Amino acid sequence: MADNRKNNGGYERRCSFCGETIKPTELMFQGDGANICSECIERGHMIIKEENADRKRKGFHMDEKKLLKPKEIKAILDEYVIGQDSAKKYLSVAVYNHYKRLIHLSSDRNVDVELEKSNVLLVGSTGTGKTLLARTIARLLEVPFTIVDATVLTQAGYVGEDVENILTRLLQAADYDVARAEYGIIFIDEIDKIARKGENTSITRDVSGEGVQQALLKILEGTLVNVPPEGGRKHPEQKFIQVDTRNILFICGGAFDGIERKIASRLNTRAVGYGTSSRREGVDKENLLKYVSPQDIRSFGLIPELVGRLPVLTYLDPLDSAALRRILTEPRNAIIKQYKRLMAMDNIDLEVTDDALDYIVEKAVVNKMGARGLRSICESVMIDAMFDGEALGGKLVIDKEYVSSHIDIAGLK
Ligand code: ADP
Repeated sequence: MADNRKNNGGYERRCSFCGETIKPTELMFQGDGANICSECIERGHMIIKEENADRKRKGFHMDEKKLLKPKEIKAILDEYVIGQDSAKKYLSVAVYNHYKRLIHLSSDRNVDVELEKSNVLLVGSTGTGKTLLARTIARLLEVPFTIVDATVLTQAGYVGEDVENILTRLLQAADYDVARAEYGIIFIDEIDKIARKGENTSITRDVSGEGVQQALLKILEGTLVNVPPEGGRKHPEQKFIQVDTRNILFICGGAFDGIERKIASRLNTRAVGYGTSSRREGVDKENLLKYVSPQDIRSFGLIPELVGRLPVLTYLDPLDSAALRRILTEPRNAIIKQYKRLMAMDNIDLEVTDDALDYIVEKAVVNKMGARGLRSICESVMIDAMFDGEALGGKLVIDKEYVSSHIDIAGLK
């Protein structure tokens, strides 16, 4: 660094970086014992800008060695989600391939082969773990994650949310770090609700159906989108942020109520004529979803282009009592574990007997509340204990009778 001190103890107008003398008319920034000329500042700014652009272009700096293998991803999913082996397997592979693709893009190797994105479509009844799977994947990858409901989306210009607002949410989840958001995961729930009504309707304008599907298609394909940072359309004066969606992984979920009929008729038509009655006999009629194909999704009302952009198609099993029973106690953050922790914070040792757990599951099944119901039942069971923990004297045993008397009050019986 050039010495700026003059013999007279004052400071000479000399840049401490390039050493040039700075003319009195030129702009100079003075720091603690050092000066910098405007030219050096500009040069520095350029370097930072180029460096950032380069980092962004190279994008994802995932260490290949750190990339989890599908089996490892599934093992982590197993800790949080009960059952759903098929969905876990497909998701693990899709995520693995997605990040391999990003590594591929950021390296200069093998540019001859273009790896396509592996967006996922999860088909399964509500409350079977679709959102939980997507959320768990995002957590383990430490990437920004957002959930949007397809039902609120409308074609631009109509009342409702513009499709671009999906990206606003992701930007917010990434603290407006665009580069990070561009490698995030978006879970679009209830994608089946934007199906067009009837297979061949096209003449009438379908505000919430096909128009939204078309708008979604662009984002799913990968494009530069002008995103309103605050969302909504209320501030037309707000500046847009440009987001590239090429590397965003989309996981869509939907119950596709009634799709079983389409699957069944497809399986039947195929069986007839080929004389494969034995094949038909092998069909698990209780769980037709496991045979879901892109063709069924199309007949349900998603446009072929959109179905094509969701190449990984898998299903979730309905949750039977055995699965619900496991959900209560087994996952890393199982409901019962959570209550135990809450009570322990008040120095109360909580014990829930097996017959109490069975009874809770029984009630959830009877009330057709699925996994979501477990939580509300438990909440009514626990309310008194949580309201006045001190009265318990440090120990609470919840048995079948305790559950029964508490859900009776809650009207769940
Ligand atoms: P979906 O998105 O399929 O409607 P969610 O993933 O939101 O359902 O599930 C609702 C809640 O039910 C979750 O927060 C979770 O507590 C519980 N749950 C559902 N399915 C499972 C599962 N397979 N394993 C563990 N918990 C589950």
